[in-house]
Amino acid sequence: MFDKILIANRGEIALRILRAAKELGIATVAVHSTADANAMHVRLADESVCIGPPPARDSYLNIPAILAACEVTGAEAVHPGYGFLSENARFAEILAEHHIAFIGPKAEHIRLMGDKVEAKRTALRLGIPCVPGSDGAIRDEAEALAVAKTLGFPVLIKAAAGGGGRGMKLARTAEDLPLALSTAKMEALSAFGDDSVYLEKYLEKPRHIEVQILGDGKGKAIHLGERDCSLQRRHQKVWEETPSPALNQEQRPRIGEICAQAMRDLGYSGAGTIEFLYENGEFYFIEMNTRIQVEHPITEMVTGVDLVNEQIKIAAGSTLSLTQEEVLFSGHAIECRINAENPSTFHPSPGKIAYYHPPGGLGVRVDSAVYAGYKIPPNYDSLVGKLIVHARNRNEALMRLRRALDECVIDGIETTLPLFRTLIRNTDIQNGSYDIHWLEKFLATGG
Ligand code: ADP
Repeated sequence: MFDKILIANRGEIALRILRAAKELGIATVAVHSTADANAMHVRLADESVCIGPPPARDSYLNIPAILAACEVTGAEAVHPGYGFLSENARFAEILAEHHIAFIGPKAEHIRLMGDKVEAKRTALRLGIPCVPGSDGAIRDEAEALAVAKTLGFPVLIKAAAGGGGRGMKLARTAEDLPLALSTAKMEALSAFGDDSVYLEKYLEKPRHIEVQILGDGKGKAIHLGERDCSLQRRHQKVWEETPSPALNQEQRPRIGEICAQAMRDLGYSGAGTIEFLYENGEFYFIEMNTRIQVEHPITEMVTGVDLVNEQIKIAAGSTLSLTQEEVLFSGHAIECRINAENPSTFHPSPGKIAYYHPPGGLGVRVDSAVYAGYKIPPNYDSLVGKLIVHARNRNEALMRLRRALDECVIDGIETTLPLFRTLIRNTDIQNGSYDIHWLEKFLATGG
């Protein structure tokens, strides 16, 4: 096992990693930008190193500065969290060249899944069902039109290097296609420096359902059930729950086992998430994320498995701590992502938290790095914290979430708490009847 790890991230996930490391008896090194000198992860880590000015490219994305921090502190491994360098294959390789472990999958698998065209090809080869689409990147308009006609409109144009919903454009008819194609290419080029795009059949009313997997890199892999992340705004997840209200007892282990088998065949190492759209009883692979995800706690709540702990142990060369048969699912969990944003306009609302009272009690977990008096810097994402509840069934989880939301106080800045207080009282949400468009429609009609 490692003696010391460096956490190459900030905010709640840095604290989350720190907690797992402490429970394993591993010393921690926090790195931070000048904007984060007073951050909680810096205060709680055994050591901290300032790696640069506020812009992420000069600090949290600054590979030489992070390497230097490893050398200075003697850290043997780096946990990248999510975002920033977590899906940067080159970073994983550079660490390996310096004999520092990357707490994540093999560089080749990060690279493979980072190219969504290659990821889909691989998924098909591994027996994972995919959204019907073009075979690889589209060369020109004529090819796009031909493919779209065989798929049938509407079609979605997606960036091969995609992420965060950027470079994604819908074409409802053949007339829409040329403009959709050129804007998708332009967006992809400016966001990712790569204008390759591919085509997919547009699914009208799917749910977003993803499967959590863990692999040991030596041919063992398990799944830890699914998460339903259909409540989205601008392709960003807002509310996640497990188990999915849409799946039955037969579908759940079936898709889980397909994913676990695929990861065994791939020799995948570490934690990963295989994302699907789900419509009319069918699953369609859209992408795989080769890192820990924001919404991982709901899986932890229903399985009791500490996913970050598993990531660290796998990176240190251990095998999985449990078999598929030992993964037992219990109850229902829901997560709300509380952002420092106006709850109607979603404009960022950085600033000083005047008063902070997180909810507590049975089955309530708050993953956050804020405290009263903390000043949220304007330089990073607006996630203030995640409120997670766990109960014996979905109804009890909803009741628990409602009371936890009412108990939570974050004063001094605007947050999205009022949105969740409205959602929890909505009958569609209570019935679990929503698809990936539900939230946008709800917001468009004034909530
Ligand atoms: P990104 O990597 O940019 O986040 P994804 O492929 O994960 O892109 O898709 C993000 C979201 O876009 C999905 O959760 C879903 O809401 C929507 N989406 C993606 N592909 C399709 C599709 N073929 N049909 C309908 N919606 C889609």
